[in-house]
Amino acid sequence: MSEKVRFGKTDLQASPLILGTWVTGGWAWGGSDEREALQAIIRSLELGINFIDTAPVYGFGKSEQIVGKALDEWGRDKEVIVATKCGLQWDAKERIRRNADPARIMEEVDASLKRLGVERIDLYQVHWPDPAVPFEETMNALLKVRDQGKIRYIGVSNFDRDQLREMMKAGDTVSLQPPFNMFERDAERELLPFCIENGVATLAYGGLCRGLLTGKFKGTEQFPKGDLRRADPKFKPGQFPKYAAAAGEIKKLAESYGKTCAQFALRWAVQQPGITCVIAGARTARQAEDNAGALDWTIKPEDMQKAEDILARHIREPLGPEFMAPPKER
Ligand code: NAP
Repeated sequence: MSEKVRFGKTDLQASPLILGTWVTGGWAWGGSDEREALQAIIRSLELGINFIDTAPVYGFGKSEQIVGKALDEWGRDKEVIVATKCGLQWDAKERIRRNADPARIMEEVDASLKRLGVERIDLYQVHWPDPAVPFEETMNALLKVRDQGKIRYIGVSNFDRDQLREMMKAGDTVSLQPPFNMFERDAERELLPFCIENGVATLAYGGLCRGLLTGKFKGTEQFPKGDLRRADPKFKPGQFPKYAAAAGEIKKLAESYGKTCAQFALRWAVQQPGITCVIAGARTARQAEDNAGALDWTIKPEDMQKAEDILARHIREPLGPEFMAPPKER
């Protein structure tokens, strides 16, 4: 059996690598192939990943549906930790807005249960903080659906330290899902120390920095319409070659272990203080296989330092993932 970690204060034993299923839904990733996406999930489960992260907004229900189908195929009797989210709403034009109103949550949880085909969601996360709704109201709704047995644990995503503290005061919040990878490390300043101090589990998202950390890019590639990387400042001329060059050096370091760049980058994140699990998306079974190679090995301290040196040399002024945030105003 491959490695597992205790997920914060919960009784969940999680693989430190989580399969992310944003790309599975196709939306914001230039589309997806359903059969391929399903196989990526099955392959991840076969290789020791026992945790899947999804959200209603990923393909407007499609990602959750495909996760549900994959669980049917995999066998419902085998335990898989399923995390999904609430608090975002979309319209017919696929415009996203935040909505963590109790009424919205009540409606969303039932829709997610149905699409996933599960009786209970293991981890239910508020996707983005909604400034229009007092956190206490959102929490009361979450506690209600937990009492009804529809969800097991409550988590949040994209909350800053003060927002997380406030949510924890309102009710039992076990986890935080922040952006975090070799190139996006803002969480190190306040969030991760706070989570360590308070026993909050963390699921780092964007583990491969949207593919940059696979080392597959030259820094000149263009992305199809509808691919979020067109809006990501790291993939723009001037920045993209710098990030690609850094990944190229990390790739060489990874090769000294017989590992790929993706495996090294994900392992690096797993080994960071305050990180419980790292989430990586996979479009295909092949990508899933590559990423699963982040399990069951360790990067030596001297090579963690070499990685730091590479990052410091190439990325002097790191850019964050702020471009992804949905508008705050309703
Ligand atoms: P990611 O894991 O950094 O990158 C995933 C993408 O990289 C894939 O879709 C694939 O895209 C490429 N890729 C993955 N493995 C590869 C491999 N081995 N070789 C080559 N290419 C590979 O990005 P992410 O999916 O945005 O983040 C991971 C997960 O975190 C999401 O799926 C989601 O569950 C979660 N997330 C949460 C939030 C939030 O607000 N809470 C935000 C973002 C993500 P291509 O094949 O198109 O290159």
